[in-house]
Amino acid sequence: MKALIIGSGMAGPAAAMALQRAGVDATVYEAHAGGAENVGVFLTLGSNGIDALRAIEADAAVGAAGFETPGIDMVSTTGKALGRVRTSRPDGDITSRTLKRADLYRGLRDEALRRGIRIEHGKRLVEAQDTGDGVRAVFADGSEEYGDLLIGCDGLHSTVRGLIDPAAPAPAYSGLIGLGGYTRGVPVNTEVGSYQMVFGKRAFFGYAPAPDGEVWWFANLPRQDEPARGEVEAIDAEQWRRRLAALFADDAGPAAELIRASQEITPASPMHAMLGVPAWHRGRMIVIGDAAHAPSPTSGQGASLSVEDAVELAKALRDLPTIEGAFAAYEALRRPRVERIVKQAARINNNKAAGPVGRIVRDLLMPLLLPRLANGEQSRQTYGHHIDWDASAVGEDGGLARQ
Ligand SMILES: Cc1cc2nc3c(=O)[nH]c(=O)nc-3n(C[C@H](O)[C@H](O)[C@H](O)COP(=O)(O)OP(=O)(O)OC[C@H]3O[C@@H](n4cnc5c(N)ncnc54)[C@H](O)[C@@H]3O)c2cc1C
Repeated sequence: MKALIIGSGMAGPAAAMALQRAGVDATVYEAHAGGAENVGVFLTLGSNGIDALRAIEADAAVGAAGFETPGIDMVSTTGKALGRVRTSRPDGDITSRTLKRADLYRGLRDEALRRGIRIEHGKRLVEAQDTGDGVRAVFADGSEEYGDLLIGCDGLHSTVRGLIDPAAPAPAYSGLIGLGGYTRGVPVNTEVGSYQMVFGKRAFFGYAPAPDGEVWWFANLPRQDEPARGEVEAIDAEQWRRRLAALFADDAGPAAELIRASQEITPASPMHAMLGVPAWHRGRMIVIGDAAHAPSPTSGQGASLSVEDAVELAKALRDLPTIEGAFAAYEALRRPRVERIVKQAARINNNKAAGPVGRIVRDLLMPLLLPRLANGEQSRQTYGHHIDWDASAVGEDGGLARQ
């Protein structure tokens, strides 16, 4: 069996490696000619994402980059501690990791290449057809490829999603603009590994000191109407520096100082989510990762869910006799989990963009609710998720194995 994988972000190389272990030959086709996009941006790969990589013995590919993030401390506008969100597996065996997106992409891609997987760059998929006994992919450079199945790992603005279902919804704007930066020379009163997130008066701010003394930070700015394409991207770093420093001026904590002193401010972008895509697959084509279900970046789960998807899809293709059967089994297994996490992230977004009354309610309720939400069943389900590569995707009763 030969798989055509579209996109070399998170899900693409992970799917290729997982399929290789399942005995399926795969080639990855990436639109961009060079390396990773959004080079400056950083993210947190959850313990569940690292667990999924471990299932295919690829966790070492990201092991050395960035730093461990065992939990996130939520802080109010006035500096009051609202509570800690545990972001690691409850048994402590795997700790989440904050790392630059470019390092994560590169680590996965290099590991896939080391395993002999072909990754072709400069290949933008524009068209694909299920021919009944196979699938034909057409690229912008005019070339064509044939395989037994096609897996769309082409992210939030997926082409494959629209080829599966031309009526598929577009990504929804989350009401927030995101950007970040890196600062040296400003001491912060928190330890390496602690991640502080501040519900500021006008915007949301997160920062984490790295082991080398640099502080990594991000800001989420509420904005109700969706900016026109390219509008916020066109605002330069100096304008952002002034605008952000003013926005965080009244909040407790080092936000304004970190922003003013930062050596690098990454380009801003509107934050989107993708919920309720009705058709994940049709015939021999399927979408996984952000193409199927993107939680807003607020969730800290998009990358992890993409890797989980890749591994679970490979297991289903390994264990079920037909491609269509494997796709259906995969969807039944994955949809409840990913949609729960996407919805949770949307609720947090509302808190980030709260008005004056909402802020008071939030700051009163959060210390009461957070321990239950963040450290109880919800956190266990999200960060404690485990994939056993050797366990069959088909349950003992012949039905689907449950998560
Ligand atoms: C600012 C920001 C912060 C984030 N923070 C976090 C976080 O802390 N934790 C977390 O888990 N997630 C985070 N995320 C989300 C995370 O980055 C995504 O969920 C994850 O990258 C999705 O992986 P993917 O492989 O599905 O898609 P992507 O990583 O987007 O990869 C898609 C790839 O497909 C390629 N492509 C697109 N169209 C085509 C085509 N037609 N033909 C060929 N190739 C194509 C693209 O060039 C790209 O390389 C964040 C995202 C943003 C924007």
